[in-house]
Amino acid sequence: MTAFQIDTKTPVMVTGATGYVAGWIIHDLLAGGVTVHGTVRDPNNSSKTKHLRDLGDRLPGQLKLFKADLLEPGSFAEAMAGCSIVFHTASPFTTDFKDPQTELVDPALKGTQNVLDQVNVTPSVTRVVLTSSVVAMMGDAADVAYMPGGTLTEDSWNTTSSLDHQAYPYSKILAERDAWRIADAQDRWRLVVINPGFVLGPSVGPTPTSESFAVVKAFGDGRTRTGAPRINFCTVDVRDLAQAHLAAAYLPDAEGRHIVAGESTDMCALGMMLRNQFGKDYPIPKNAMPKWLFWVVGPFLAKITRKYISRNTEHPFKFDNSKSVEALGQTYRRLQTTIEEMFGQMVERGVFR
Ligand code: NAP
Repeated sequence: MTAFQIDTKTPVMVTGATGYVAGWIIHDLLAGGVTVHGTVRDPNNSSKTKHLRDLGDRLPGQLKLFKADLLEPGSFAEAMAGCSIVFHTASPFTTDFKDPQTELVDPALKGTQNVLDQVNVTPSVTRVVLTSSVVAMMGDAADVAYMPGGTLTEDSWNTTSSLDHQAYPYSKILAERDAWRIADAQDRWRLVVINPGFVLGPSVGPTPTSESFAVVKAFGDGRTRTGAPRINFCTVDVRDLAQAHLAAAYLPDAEGRHIVAGESTDMCALGMMLRNQFGKDYPIPKNAMPKWLFWVVGPFLAKITRKYISRNTEHPFKFDNSKSVEALGQTYRRLQTTIEEMFGQMVERGVFR
């Protein structure tokens, strides 16, 4: 790993502190002795913040929680004051929405503008690490075949998502593009972007609401008993992802975008990785759902469109993560270990009872 030196002299800010990804970033920062200003929508909601306060008590760094909302202009001022680095992770990640504009795009885009406008008037900030996604680079798995070399790289941009098709990826494109526009208009602070694949692995918080857990839950609650579709995606362990954020923050030369993903897989292959350890006690998928069958029943089982199914099922794709390895010193855990540890934690927490 390219060694980075954590700076414990100045505080840093993490937006969306209650989130799955933010939990491990905060864990690693506190373990390194950093003072962390975490922003949350409701600091008094102890069910969402207790695990963070516990980390603050247990680890060498200090944690302070501040109230802030992505949609409220000026709301990050107090938390950001005096911070050298801003980790902007907050953004809704869900497929369970009624109005994609107000529930996904507005918080992602206006929230990023709000955070970066505050960075522009906070002289202590020298670097912003933005949690974007590979879905800002590709909309559907089928897109990658048309990219140069049939490979997803840091030069790729998602040009196929919209409010009507793949609204969450659309929210991530708009947010990342605008972040670059705001960053490029000044030269005091540097923007470094992390583009993770689908995030998996255990959570720090006890009741994670990230879409990552909704997907893995289907392997244990019977929904994929008769077969899981071969929806293609690339993955990263949440703990590896946290280290990528710290490297992006503390390596002096870190710059630009970074694909942070270790392995390519599909829903069926991912579920089947759980068979050895959990197949006796849980309805882990034993085989793939044929694409034609998924095309017929998918729209009735979940809020999935036929366009999504045809463009994301049985389209394995290549991605190039070499920049993360060379520039950030990133290492990647095996997906088999990651998914077993995540599912094991869900079993221990009684998610399937
Ligand atoms: P998560 O657990 O749902 O975290 C999302 C965070 O955003 C929560 O802390 C949430 O706060 C906050 N948030 C949402 N709307 C907000 C608002 N209006 N004002 C303030 N905070 C708001 O999801 P996650 O998986 O950790 O995702 C974190 C980041 O990683 C996101 O930017 C996501 O796009 C990105 N990402 C995730 C994945 C993945 O597979 N999980 C993959 C690639 C990129 P509340 O607790 O108050 O709701």
